[in-house]
Amino acid sequence: MKKPIVCCDFDGTITKNDNIIRIMQQFAPNEWTKLKDAVLSKEMTIQEGVGRMFRLLRSDQKEAIQSFIFNDTDIREGFESFITYLKKADIPFYVLSGGMDFFVYPILEGLVEKEHIYCNQASFQEKHIHIQWPYACDAHCRNGCGCCKPSIIRKLTDEHDLIIMIGDSVTDIEAAKRADLTFARDYLLNECRELNLNHQAYETFIDLKSQFVQIKEVKEWETLRANAGRS
Ligand SMILES: [Mg+2]
Ligand SMILES: [Zn+2]
Repeated sequence: MKKPIVCCDFDGTITKNDNIIRIMQQFAPNEWTKLKDAVLSKEMTIQEGVGRMFRLLRSDQKEAIQSFIFNDTDIREGFESFITYLKKADIPFYVLSGGMDFFVYPILEGLVEKEHIYCNQASFQEKHIHIQWPYACDAHCRNGCGCCKPSIIRKLTDEHDLIIMIGDSVTDIEAAKRADLTFARDYLLNECRELNLNHQAYETFIDLKSQFVQIKEVKEWETLRANAGRS
């Protein structure tokens, strides 16, 4: 019998906004938008584009960036109650983030254990910020993801797991293709529809919790999975 495991995106999913975009808008010289456009049009990999964006920032801006981020990070409604529910239901929860340790860990402090968070690492040893990629693509992925969600899912799960993905954006598509069921909003919701992936729409974690609470048995997950994405 399969056992559910939840893999959840961070930026734009747990937080309402994309923190990398907010950091760049606030601190980077204008040329960051060229890099962003090159990533979105797939001329440049996420790893290269994001790495080069952070190279535009000085290491001595670290504190300023952190306080800027903490001052107005909005966590999507119901997140804490959702993860409390998962704990009680004994459903493992992992965060798979293309963000950087210096803002992901502090925002999730007291909510998600560090061992359950996968993200990139920023180094402040040189004049400019240098990103390290501890979870770069494995041999099965050639996308240059930076933080490779499908690779992490391959590491974390086996055939006994029912993989549930929660996300919102372009970096979640490859993971959604590997998930048994994806809870999607925004850009990812359209992609799931277009690619005909098993999916359900959500808007907040209050939503997600009530969808999860209704599902008491793995059998029901399987039914939901079979029916999802057919609407
Ligand atoms: Mg996202
Ligand atoms: Zn990859």
